[in-house]
Amino acid sequence: MSAYLISGGTLADNTQKDILIVDEVISEIATKVVSASAASAVVIDARDCIVLPGLVDLHTHLREPGREDSETVASGSRAAARGGFTAVSAMANTFPVADTAGVVEQVYRLGQATGLCDVFPIGAVTQGLLGKQLAELGAMASSAARVRVFSDDGNCVSDAMVMRRALEYVKQFSGVIAQHAQDPTLTVDAQMNEGVISSRLGLKGWPAVAEEAIIARDILLADHVQSRLHICHLTTAGGVEIVRWAKARGINVTAEVTPHHLLLTDDLATSYDPVFKVNPPLRTLKDVMALREGLADGTIDIVATDHAPHPTESKECEWQSAAFGMIGLESALSVVQQTMVDSSLMTWEQVVDRMSVAPARIGGYSNQGQGIRVGAAANITIVNSKKKWRVDKDLVASRSRNTPFHGMELPGVVICTMLRGKITFDGQMRAVNG
Ligand SMILES: [Zn+2]
Repeated sequence: MSAYLISGGTLADNTQKDILIVDEVISEIATKVVSASAASAVVIDARDCIVLPGLVDLHTHLREPGREDSETVASGSRAAARGGFTAVSAMANTFPVADTAGVVEQVYRLGQATGLCDVFPIGAVTQGLLGKQLAELGAMASSAARVRVFSDDGNCVSDAMVMRRALEYVKQFSGVIAQHAQDPTLTVDAQMNEGVISSRLGLKGWPAVAEEAIIARDILLADHVQSRLHICHLTTAGGVEIVRWAKARGINVTAEVTPHHLLLTDDLATSYDPVFKVNPPLRTLKDVMALREGLADGTIDIVATDHAPHPTESKECEWQSAAFGMIGLESALSVVQQTMVDSSLMTWEQVVDRMSVAPARIGGYSNQGQGIRVGAAANITIVNSKKKWRVDKDLVASRSRNTPFHGMELPGVVICTMLRGKITFDGQMRAVNG
């Protein structure tokens, strides 16, 4: 038997409780735990800390197989554990593409072998992410990886008929299509948000309507075939309005926002530093404010990182030729604390919903997102929310260093992450005995 006693921490509902974990499960929660197992438990001093359920990221690029120079399942899992995550969904745009049962099972097994977080592979919607023929959706769903989320992320499923067929197909196993909303005909060679700054810099603009037109179309398609749609990385005020309209009509749509779109704006491109080049692009302050409001009122269901590692040579070059993407697993919770909690827009209970409960529900990950309650799997993140840290790209666990937050001071230090009662990240955790 292994036992941990998390002592003196504050739960998301602002009550101070001790939590006893026996083997893989939370076995007691009380002001003072009295169970006999507590006597032999290793005590984790969580005074000054918030104790949250393990975070779940529905949008991670782990790059394996094929781009192990950027990230591997192992290095990405380490970054996830350090950021407080106990589960990540691995996007399908690998080499080869995760469009068969064979590839998703390979990624799933690599995750299990690493054992630092649950790795749930996302299957491609179309073969080779080419947007033409549906991939082996059924075979991936019935594989050992039990895929339920499908996405061509990186590419948009732009053909309306292909999108319709995909939405219809996944209904038989309660799957969901996660759309990267980007009309390719409106974004040829696009480099950054279309607006005042793109004109000034002479960079080809990426209009908000390229995202919003696909969001609107797919919401109508999902409603028409009565299927389930998830919108990846929403970035525009107009997109938030469309999702709000759809939800008011009872349409089965969910949406995510990334931490970087909650904090950063397109004027950062004036530095010409490609660390700020991302797909979809950073938008305006008006968009950022609409995204925060949408996340707070539940229009946007979850925060997802879109952790997108790239090797130095793909990011430390001129803007036009640089890759799109930013890493984000290790800084996500801190950015959410700064933009949403410290600004009083959201409570910690809402953070638990947006970063653990809701993403697990959307992904169908029944062993995750169970909250802190007796009988739940002991997936736990302990955070010192009063402490600050300085982001340093040279100290990340990820194999890539393309963090847009380098040098920034952010609130919230993850002290310990636990996956089913096993410590997967030990920051400055203070074990009192044992
Ligand atoms: Zn994407």
